[in-house]
Amino acid sequence: MTTQKLAARRLLLLPGDGIGPEVMAEVKRLIEWMNQRGLGRFETEDALVGGCCYDAHGVAITDATMEKARAADAVIFGAVGGPKWDHVAYEARPEAGLLRLRKELGLFANIRPALCYPALAESSSLRRELVEGLDIVIVRELTGGIYFGEPKSITDLGNGQKRAIDTQVYDTYEIERIARVAFDLARTRRNKVTSSEKRNVMKTGVLWHEVVGDVHRREYPDVALEHQLAEACGMQLVRWPKQFDVIVCDNLFGDMLSDVAAMLTGSLGMLPSASLGEIDPRTKKRRALYEPVHGSAPDIAGKGRANPIAMMASFGMALRYSFAMAKEADLVDAAISSALAKGLRTAEMSAAIVAEMARLAAA
Ligand code: NAD
Repeated sequence: MTTQKLAARRLLLLPGDGIGPEVMAEVKRLIEWMNQRGLGRFETEDALVGGCCYDAHGVAITDATMEKARAADAVIFGAVGGPKWDHVAYEARPEAGLLRLRKELGLFANIRPALCYPALAESSSLRRELVEGLDIVIVRELTGGIYFGEPKSITDLGNGQKRAIDTQVYDTYEIERIARVAFDLARTRRNKVTSSEKRNVMKTGVLWHEVVGDVHRREYPDVALEHQLAEACGMQLVRWPKQFDVIVCDNLFGDMLSDVAAMLTGSLGMLPSASLGEIDPRTKKRRALYEPVHGSAPDIAGKGRANPIAMMASFGMALRYSFAMAKEADLVDAAISSALAKGLRTAEMSAAIVAEMARLAAA
């Protein structure tokens, strides 16, 4: 697993607010351990984002930090927000830092695995046999679609009525690039993609179906492709989730289906995510940000009760997607699963995960 000459990987760590710094501390411990063991050569730098950045600089993220994010090989993000900043102006609110990162780094592909750790199968709303061993990934288009399309307005019609408009817009290139992310991912897994849209009632669904099919025929004929209408996909997710491998969908359906899939695992608060951008033609590197699905949990911040699993698994995704370190990423996942099986749930988890990784690496 260890290579003689490891290239240095530059990580920008953005712990954020609430439990963000607590769970990030555990990732730092993991990074330190990997560096010491020769399993990686990571150089890290910390910066402020979210409410803490607002307190220091009056903005949720500074231009200097954006520059560091552009220069880094990957950004590892904790969580932002909390009641302390509820009064802050909309443009400077803690979440604005994350939105700016997504927008300016062009992070168009959101990857959300739904992995059911055996130790948590009983926590799912579905029967154990339906979810135990579940391992699926939702690839959600993140920068286009109905959340951003124009016109977007509420108009007073003057007769006691108002009219609200949201616009769903997709261009061919946006569908092509997200389809490629899904097909590439499937090739590293069980080689199957399910594309989900509403071509029966939406023009964007018609184009989505057509473009995904074209990309498949031209570039990925070796990957199995099926199309499912979005509502049928939602239904199948709760009926028989193990039929899926990679599901690719637009921003809106992806938002919903990824939460449904996450809930199946019984561990919404323990799941990681990745947001990927284009491959930079100059550096050949893909912009990427990794973060837990959960928020800053102000209710437990500072109490030593934050569970670091989602944050550590997010770093595991960075190993897999940014650094092609699949074996080491598998090690992180196996160590998490094993620590969970021992009944550990909170901060004691990270020491157990590092110890378990050492045991597995030596085996
Ligand atoms: P949350 O995920 O922070 O917390 C929901 C519940 O889950 C809380 O009871 C919390 O204690 C628990 N929880 C979450 N993560 C946990 C962990 N790692 N270990 C143990 N328990 C954990 O969601 P919320 O309460 O809706 O939001 C709190 C703040 O976080 C808000 O300001 C919200 O805007 C922000 N938020 C930020 C992000 C992000 O940074 N990407 C995402 C969601 C929410």
